[in-house]
Amino acid sequence: MPQRLFSGLLDLLFPPRCAGCGRPGSWLCTACLTQVAWIAPPLCPRCGEPARAPACCPRRHRHPEHLDGLRSAAWHSGPLRAALHRLKYRGQRVLAAPLAGLVVAAWRRDPPPAGLLIPVPLHPTRVRERGFNQAALLAAYVGRELGLPVDARHLARIRATPPQVGLSAGQRLVNVAGAFRYSGPSLHGRAVCLIDDICTTGATLEACAAALREAGAASVWAYTVARPRWDAADRDA
Ligand SMILES: [Zn+2]
Ligand SMILES: [Zn+2]
Repeated sequence: MPQRLFSGLLDLLFPPRCAGCGRPGSWLCTACLTQVAWIAPPLCPRCGEPARAPACCPRRHRHPEHLDGLRSAAWHSGPLRAALHRLKYRGQRVLAAPLAGLVVAAWRRDPPPAGLLIPVPLHPTRVRERGFNQAALLAAYVGRELGLPVDARHLARIRATPPQVGLSAGQRLVNVAGAFRYSGPSLHGRAVCLIDDICTTGATLEACAAALREAGAASVWAYTVARPRWDAADRDA
């Protein structure tokens, strides 16, 4: 049975329920959407943390090296956190559309210079286990809304890496260094934006950006749906 027909049937059997509060009627209800904690400007131009200037950015000592800019639409908390978890670990792909909508809204307020979207790839083994790559689903919606091309084929995770959870920021960088390779049409002079669901320390996005730069990209930005508050990420590290 084709996937789309199958999920259509599931919707009939199990009508939508909000991932945040469980109320029936939609996958992410209006009440939960109003609880989304947007990361509001002024933002550090490099890493997208709330800051009046890069010099007073809380993240300034760990600014990305390979990324020109990094933005997240909202803080990883409340109903949004629940929705992201359901998308990634419970396979609720329908959540990709409303979650991508948050990126689109933030992007329109603060657009990065990008002519091409590239989702952060999963290792093929992980794609087989999960059945999909949540970043690719998000990028497809974001690209459609913004009228930007999406390349989900040529950036690959060539090394399976242990999960980043529980690792320090430094360990995360080592864990994913060299784990990605781009082998596709030349990126020479192109402005690329990576798309992912969550950015914790940015180590994975950095490793992807390094591979895209090696392939000639003129600039590499990254946009994610959410990120944990920096003090929380620090504690995590
Ligand atoms: Zn709700
Ligand atoms: Zn910063």
